[in-house]
Amino acid sequence: MKEQFLLELKKLFNLQNKDIEISSLKEQLESIPISIEKLNQQIQQLQQSVEINKSDLKQIQLQLKQKEGDIRSIEEKINKHNSELNSVKTNEQYKALLNEIQSLKLEKDKIETEILELLSKQDDANNKIKIFDKELNEKKSGIEKQIVELKTQQQVIEQQILQKESERQTLSNDINPKYLEIYEHVRKNRDGIALAIVKDKACGVCNMRLTQQEINEVSKYEEFILCESCSRILYIQEDLEK
Ligand SMILES: [Zn+2]
Repeated sequence: MKEQFLLELKKLFNLQNKDIEISSLKEQLESIPISIEKLNQQIQQLQQSVEINKSDLKQIQLQLKQKEGDIRSIEEKINKHNSELNSVKTNEQYKALLNEIQSLKLEKDKIETEILELLSKQDDANNKIKIFDKELNEKKSGIEKQIVELKTQQQVIEQQILQKESERQTLSNDINPKYLEIYEHVRKNRDGIALAIVKDKACGVCNMRLTQQEINEVSKYEEFILCESCSRILYIQEDLEK
């Protein structure tokens, strides 16, 4: 009776190891799309940086065109006023025209300074585009390669899970259904871990202290002894290795 029960417990122990392997593989599998997403985001961020600077550059070039047009029209006005200087009748008109020409020249200087600033901004934007473009080109192929590797890994893990699940099926077919049912029930309600090792006179999972009486009960192997705190099935490692 005890031997028989202990044998079933050993089978459950193997089943639990298989379940742990499967759930660890499933965790790895779930992490892959997240990693792929992060890699894709890296590419997108670099592409965005390039795009933002390209649109900045476009704005700067528009402003430059505008300012160059302003300069031309100011120059035309200055030329016009210069020729008008020859035909004015009074001193006052002459002075007024000179004032007008002077203020147009100041305006022109101001716009030329603005153009210089815009040209420097244009250089900055062009440099940034070059830098981000270079970074994008350098990183893109590496990232794409990483993504392909992750997708391959994904397929490998999916295969491994199928394999382990089939092994699990074989293991569980060989277990007394009465015990298997209890195992499955505890497993579902206890984060996938149904069996708890007795370690240093405590439940190895929830660390609840066990009385000597409880430990004695476990080592009888007549029925499942559950941890009072976490309700997992207790076992003693050395007994399973016998
Ligand atoms: Zn416990």
